Amino acid sequence: MTPEEENKLRDLNSGDMVKIQEAAYWLERHRAYHLIDAMKESRKTMPARVALRDYRLNVDRCIRVLENFRSGAKCHCNLYGHGSDFSLNGEVMDGFLKVEKETVFHEEYYSEFQVVCQHCARRWRIREVFGYHYPTYEWYDLRR
Ligand SMILES: [Zn+2]
Repeated sequence: MTPEEENKLRDLNSGDMVKIQEAAYWLERHRAYHLIDAMKESRKTMPARVALRDYRLNVDRCIRVLENFRSGAKCHCNLYGHGSDFSLNGEVMDGFLKVEKETVFHEEYYSEFQVVCQHCARRWRIREVFGYHYPTYEWYDLRR
C-alpha cells in the first residue's frame, strides 16, 4: 500500500464527511481494487447522516465501480440504469461517455441526451431532471 493509499483509508475512517467523500472519489479514480475489502470494513462503521443526501452513497458507489473494473469491465455501462448515481457531466469529463444529441424541454424543465460509451459503444438516453438541490438522471438503455 502506498503512503497516499494509507492516507485515503485513514480519511475513510475519519468520520469527516468531506474527507470521506474525497477519499472515495480518489480511490475510485485510482482504481484501488486491492483496497475494496478495507473500504467495506470502513463503510460498516460510518455514521449515518439524516436529511440531505447520505454521503456514504459515494463510498458505496466507489466500491461498486472498483468491483466492476476488477471483474474486467472497461466502462461503467454495467452500472448505469435506473437508480444509478452517475452524473452525465462526470461521465463525459472522465471520458466514459460522449454526447451525440441533446434535446432541451424548456417548459418541462428537463433535458434529454443521447450518449455513446467510448469503450463499448453502447448507447444510452439520459433524462436530466433539475431537482431541488441537484439534478437527477434517468437512464434508458438504447440496445435493442
Ligand atoms: Zn460501455
